[in-house]
Amino acid sequence: MTARLRVDWPACQGRGLCFEVLPELISLDEWGYPVVEGEVPRELLGLAREAARTCPTLALRVVDAP
Ligand code: SF4
Repeated sequence: MTARLRVDWPACQGRGLCFEVLPELISLDEWGYPVVEGEVPRELLGLAREAARTCPTLALRVVDAP
């Protein structure tokens, strides 16, 4: 199973907490909004879930990729 990170843009407030938890897959654009890179490797799945839990607006989710 392959996982991806998905951002709910209307909910995201661009605070960048997800980036602090998972800089391996998330960078921030010039306004502080997350830029998510591709699929989540198995070894980063735990951190990806933690990043989603950390999001104060529940805007970040780990989803199954088709
Ligand atoms: S932690 Fe949530 S609200 Fe903050 S930048 Fe990441 S997705 Fe957006």
